[in-house]
Amino acid sequence: MNNSVEIIEVSPRDGIQNEKKLLSLATKLEMIQRSIDAGASRIEVTSFVNPKRVPQMAEADEICAALPKDTDCKYIGLALNKRGFERACNAGLDEVNFVVVASDTFSQKNQGTDTETGLSLFNELAGNVSDPIAVGVTIAAAFGCPFEGEMPIERLMKVVDGCMEANPFELAIADTIGVATPKDIKERINAIRQHYPDVPLRLHLHNTRNTGLANAWAGVEAGVAALDSSFGGVGGCPFAPAATGNIATEDLVYMLERAGISTGVDLTKAIDAAQFIEDALDKTVPGMVMKAGVFPQSVAANT
Ligand code: MG
Repeated sequence: MNNSVEIIEVSPRDGIQNEKKLLSLATKLEMIQRSIDAGASRIEVTSFVNPKRVPQMAEADEICAALPKDTDCKYIGLALNKRGFERACNAGLDEVNFVVVASDTFSQKNQGTDTETGLSLFNELAGNVSDPIAVGVTIAAAFGCPFEGEMPIERLMKVVDGCMEANPFELAIADTIGVATPKDIKERINAIRQHYPDVPLRLHLHNTRNTGLANAWAGVEAGVAALDSSFGGVGGCPFAPAATGNIATEDLVYMLERAGISTGVDLTKAIDAAQFIEDALDKTVPGMVMKAGVFPQSVAANT
């Protein structure tokens, strides 16, 4: 098991994309600054999508133009189609993450193509990249689809194969609607590892059925190098019914650091950031450590 895990802060993207209350550009930029201050080494800063479909992401280009430059933190932009991918490549980001959806129905609703077309598009786009930008991919609905139900592991592996043909620098596996259990995580990560021993694996988890942290732990045990999470556990998907929050960054940091696995993220600052987002959204967010407080208290005094 790794003794350190990288956390990718996704609150500026997944965390707020489904929120009806539109946040100001300044608030979004403060979320990003707080992610940097808390020690995030990578942040998913926005997605390049149609603002009519996802109004919260309307300022993607403005956000990218205003990102702090004096940091080692890497910035990721999410893309679902050709136009989004090209916008991300031109936005001065470190990474573009393209989404391929493992089920046809959700793929159609999320990005207007079936899975096969999405895979071809990803391969075409990744093959054309000449900019100094790292190209990664996320396989959405990798554990289950909100419309089709179970995602057979055989089908997932075909999608993995299709993604790997494009030689992404990282492969992210997403439980978009929060249906996975730790057994599923281990099974699927191990299956991918068998075929692709070297590709860095990242997990994107939602805590919709309260299995999020257990799944994160299973992922770490299976050798996953990076985990997505959001301050306060905010999150959701505009095109997946009943999809709720990501795993909470501060809860994840608490669990991992107490278990001797370093994350580079400062727990107290993560809790402060979660509180900031709760205030900005003007609603109670799901995170639990922010409500209970750190343990033991002396940790808070020392950090
Ligand atoms: Mg998500």
